[in-house]
Amino acid sequence: MLSIKNLKANIGEKEILRGINLEVKPGEVHAIMGPNGSGKSTLASVLAGREDFEVVGGEVDFQGKDLLDFGPEERAREGVFLAFQYPVEIPGVSTINFMKTALNQVREHRGEEALSAVDFLKVMKEKMELVEISQSLLNRSLNEGFSGGEKKRNEIFQMAMLEPKLSILDETDSGLDIDALRIVANGVNKLKNKDNATIVVTHYQRLLDYIVPDYVHVLYNGRIVKSGTKELALELEEKGYDWIKAEADQQF
Ligand code: ADP
Ligand code: MG
Ligand code: MG
Repeated sequence: MLSIKNLKANIGEKEILRGINLEVKPGEVHAIMGPNGSGKSTLASVLAGREDFEVVGGEVDFQGKDLLDFGPEERAREGVFLAFQYPVEIPGVSTINFMKTALNQVREHRGEEALSAVDFLKVMKEKMELVEISQSLLNRSLNEGFSGGEKKRNEIFQMAMLEPKLSILDETDSGLDIDALRIVANGVNKLKNKDNATIVVTHYQRLLDYIVPDYVHVLYNGRIVKSGTKELALELEEKGYDWIKAEADQQF
């Protein structure tokens, strides 16, 4: 589904990603961990097509297409979902209306007809139950005054509605409490199927108590320096990152 080869990206003169290699197949959940400042959020942003970074090398193939050729909106339409794609507050636009537009754009791109109001409500109700989000939250203006947990619920709801092929969740917010972590984890677990894949960027081993990743990768200094299964995350929790840094510093 996703094949990243030797991806390099800079901010200004500074090299941030120094050759990322990653293969993600349908049905898989990948966790990306690593020390602060190693490039995790940069990787997520580059995959989303954010403009602050300059891709200076490598390839990103998504379902046979060169993802780097597409702008952020096109990537979303192709089925890439980024939790922070729509972090903006939009006063006066309810989450429901926002989602209706977003979903119909995606459907149009897939060659499907726009949903009627009745069908939209039906789909919405089903997804609301799935991710346990309340109607009152959806009636409110998008993200306006949402608490951390409400934002998370809303993100997972968007993910449920859009049914992306690949979701990239960057759990950077150190303010995430255990409930918010659970919301994210439950969402990922419930929405997982054999045709979609998820990349979860996290600082917290704790999140991986709830989401069971198929693979765990450690990003350090712009490279994936170690990959393993969920046991690797447990080892990291126990031993920290120093041993990995030492290994990597010898290698590069
Ligand atoms: P992580 O998510 O792993 O903590 P980031 O991807 O946020 O790491 O950051 C990687 C490196 O890029 C850090 O050294 C950080 O200081 C730098 N960086 C990130 N964003 C910017 C920016 N907008 N301008 C300059 N440097 C940045
Ligand atoms: Mg950081
Ligand atoms: Mg980060």
